[in-house]
Amino acid sequence: MQICGIQKLTLLDYPGKVACTVFAGGCNFRCPFCHNAELVLGGKARPEIPEEEVLSFLEKRRGVLDGVCVSGGEPLLQPDLAAFIGEIKKMGYLVKLDTNGSMPERLCELAGQGLLDYVAMDLKNSPEGYGATVGIRDFDVGDVDRSIRFLLGGAVPYEFRTTVVREFHRKADFEAMGQWIAGAQRYYLQQFVDSGHLIGSGLHAYDRSILEQALEIVKKYVETAQIRGV
Ligand code: SF4
Repeated sequence: MQICGIQKLTLLDYPGKVACTVFAGGCNFRCPFCHNAELVLGGKARPEIPEEEVLSFLEKRRGVLDGVCVSGGEPLLQPDLAAFIGEIKKMGYLVKLDTNGSMPERLCELAGQGLLDYVAMDLKNSPEGYGATVGIRDFDVGDVDRSIRFLLGGAVPYEFRTTVVREFHRKADFEAMGQWIAGAQRYYLQQFVDSGHLIGSGLHAYDRSILEQALEIVKKYVETAQIRGV
């Protein structure tokens, strides 16, 4: 596992759990609003932490933490992810996976092996707006759609989440995203925050009143939808 960071305690990343977050390096998307540019793009600012060090930290935190969030970057790109999560689960931790939904086969495989207790998948935009939002021209949403279908099937508890950015999301996009994931267990519209380490530039958040209008739209399709981070 290429591990590039660890947040030793989080009360926010794993719903209802006391957890830590492990950040895998590298991503196959280039979302301009990504606040983990150094994790995605690499370079000197992406130091690696030996896997043994992370596992030894987790061994010491047994009984203190409930779970581990495996985030990134895109963790499913890591060829030895299953083995790493297997070690974590042997210690008795719950595991939450954060994913961009671009690798449905790997997602199904890990879930099928009983390695995932919760999945948080990014829904970046409507199908029409996806390519621009993930920074890939002519992006094919087929794999994202397959991940969505898999999660909607309910094999593992999950949430969808959309980071809402003024330059990318319009009213029609919320309508289309709501329809795409209609009936989902949970859906969060997250306020964009400029961390100062973005991949792109010139991006802005909507104010709360616009987010609330967006929420009303998506609630027609996902009753439990909420705003997060405002
Ligand atoms: S925000 Fe986009 S580029 Fe950044 S880690 Fe997530 S999927 Fe990758």
